[in-house]
Amino acid sequence: MTDSVPDSAEPPKSTHDHSHCQDKAVRIAERLCLERGVRLTPLRRRILELIWENHQAVKAYDLLDKVRPFDQSIKPATIYRTLDFLLEQGLIHRVETLNAFIGCSHSEGQHEQLLLICERCQEVEERPGQAIMAAVARELEQAGFTLHRKAIEIHGLCARCFLQGNQT
Ligand SMILES: [Zn+2]
Ligand SMILES: [Zn+2]
Ligand SMILES: [Zn+2]
Repeated sequence: MTDSVPDSAEPPKSTHDHSHCQDKAVRIAERLCLERGVRLTPLRRRILELIWENHQAVKAYDLLDKVRPFDQSIKPATIYRTLDFLLEQGLIHRVETLNAFIGCSHSEGQHEQLLLICERCQEVEERPGQAIMAAVARELEQAGFTLHRKAIEIHGLCARCFLQGNQT
């Protein structure tokens, strides 16, 4: 009996079946667009799928490069308009500090975002961060400040990259 399975299994984040994430995101988008009476056109769906290719933030011009093979004549303005639609529908988020986009994992409701951005693998984890958001809300109230949008972005290393960094 040989036991060749390494005992230091990686955290599930790296090993999860990502096709499931992508399929689920597209299915939810289809349903939400139908309910809201807006159209998930082939291009909108294509861009959403491309953003959901992984959990890394993706820039608009990288999306343009990825769409070009399917549509030679596509213009940057079209990509931006499509991204605006997906943002409005809450299907994606803009990561301000990277000027890039990620798919939203909680697109069924309006929500605030605590984004944990890994500087090594570029993966972005979206968390509700309710306690932090409540504390910020209290602070804003004291300041008499009216917010339009609230997202907190934190840069660092994800658990997987941190472990890899410490193994060498
Ligand atoms: Zn995934
Ligand atoms: Zn979200
Ligand atoms: Zn990482």
